[in-house]
Amino acid sequence: MSTPTTPTTPRRVRTRIAPSPTGFLHLGTARTALFSWAFARHFGGDFILRIEDTDVARSTQEAVDQIIAAMRWLELGYDEGPFYQMQRLDRYRVVIAGMLAAGTAYHCYCQPAELDAMREAQRARGDKPRYDGRWRPEPGKQLPAVPSGLQPVVRFRNPTDGEVTWDDLVKGPITIGNRELDDLIIARPDGTPTYNFCVVVDDWDMQISHVIRGDDHVNNTPRQINILRALGAELPLYGHVPMILGPDGDKLSKRHGAVSVMQYQEAGYLPEAMVNYLARLGWSHGDDELFARDKLVQWFDGQHLAKSPAQWDAAKLNWVNAQYIKAMQDDALAKLVTGQLQRLHGIELGDNRLPRICALFKDRCETTVALAQWAAGFYADVRPAQTELEKHVTAAVVPGVRLLAEKLAACAWDKPSIAACIKQVLAESGLKMPQLAMAVRVLLLGTSQTPSLDAVIELFLKQTVIQRLGSANL
Ligand code: GLU
Repeated sequence: MSTPTTPTTPRRVRTRIAPSPTGFLHLGTARTALFSWAFARHFGGDFILRIEDTDVARSTQEAVDQIIAAMRWLELGYDEGPFYQMQRLDRYRVVIAGMLAAGTAYHCYCQPAELDAMREAQRARGDKPRYDGRWRPEPGKQLPAVPSGLQPVVRFRNPTDGEVTWDDLVKGPITIGNRELDDLIIARPDGTPTYNFCVVVDDWDMQISHVIRGDDHVNNTPRQINILRALGAELPLYGHVPMILGPDGDKLSKRHGAVSVMQYQEAGYLPEAMVNYLARLGWSHGDDELFARDKLVQWFDGQHLAKSPAQWDAAKLNWVNAQYIKAMQDDALAKLVTGQLQRLHGIELGDNRLPRICALFKDRCETTVALAQWAAGFYADVRPAQTELEKHVTAAVVPGVRLLAEKLAACAWDKPSIAACIKQVLAESGLKMPQLAMAVRVLLLGTSQTPSLDAVIELFLKQTVIQRLGSANL
């Protein structure tokens, strides 16, 4: 084991994200990953992926795959890993043996029933329930006789006085008295190490310089610092990011809708928009709301992290996504919409109209799902609602619609020619533009609200327009 290190040169910045693969990558974890990633990139350091899979009963390979897919989707590239804690058990055993030998850890043979009785008695006396240190070696203390046939746990010999203080990157200085801390179990009777212990050994071995994580881990930090000190390890700096709240002020959970990052991919959000939105949840750079990833990296130096919890705001995410959709190149957008058309509408494209359809509709869409919904009308049957038909495709308009169908049948298929046809129909039928346009829109796309009529018609195949306008019956 190494001796305590006093850094003489600034440490290389090394951060990590350490998800437990017990489910999908949660938005909160994604945000922590983003902060850790951006921080490492800002300082030209390393970002590490560590899979904390020691909860064997709840960890699955599927969850690991999901986590990796989500990191890839958000383009949070890691420089090292994934490291799996279950593949490091030998290393933990070695460290525990070293601590036992050094006297910073000890065997404890207390059985669950004995611990229950201990806590019960403490409660009855009005004391806080805690391990009373009966197996903790002290100079001159007589330890109980080792019971035969029982496997001990290993406990960390936490300092009994003094306090642990760290200057949290987010919350500022935090101090916890050692009296508040139990002698933590670091290995179970079967020898398997416990959660807090694995984290410590990993952060040490992986030379993590900055631990950025959710503030549900604040209580673990003084214990982890004490163990790191006992190991003579250089301490990382800690930053505990407040949780994300749902719109009702409770911790964001499934109840509030999608909390899995990959659900947002399906729902038509762009990774760059997600990154932008997540970055603003609990961090700010002046009033900037829209910024590309390289700006985030340039700005993210660990300052300006909010002390109070951020609130999930679906409307704002939609707005951010809409801005990114609007700004995206049509060809790239069409690729994403192609996927949504296949997945949601079973549509396989046979021509190259989609980039132009995206160009025409993208500024009215918040997601690629919404864009695919529009695009679907150009490739698959549209069934206008009866109410829309009754409202817009009236007896007064149908002759004009038929006339338009006739003229379009003989029309060159470009916007100016189509516009000229429409004009002629208005002149000959005496209809007003809105009357004709609403009816045609409903027949073509099922809704009276679309971009300009000539632009919409041009993107249809001619035979589809003739057929849909021809279906105007009374
Ligand atoms: N595995 C922990 C979690 O998923 C993270 C622990 C840490 O970041 O130290 O909450």
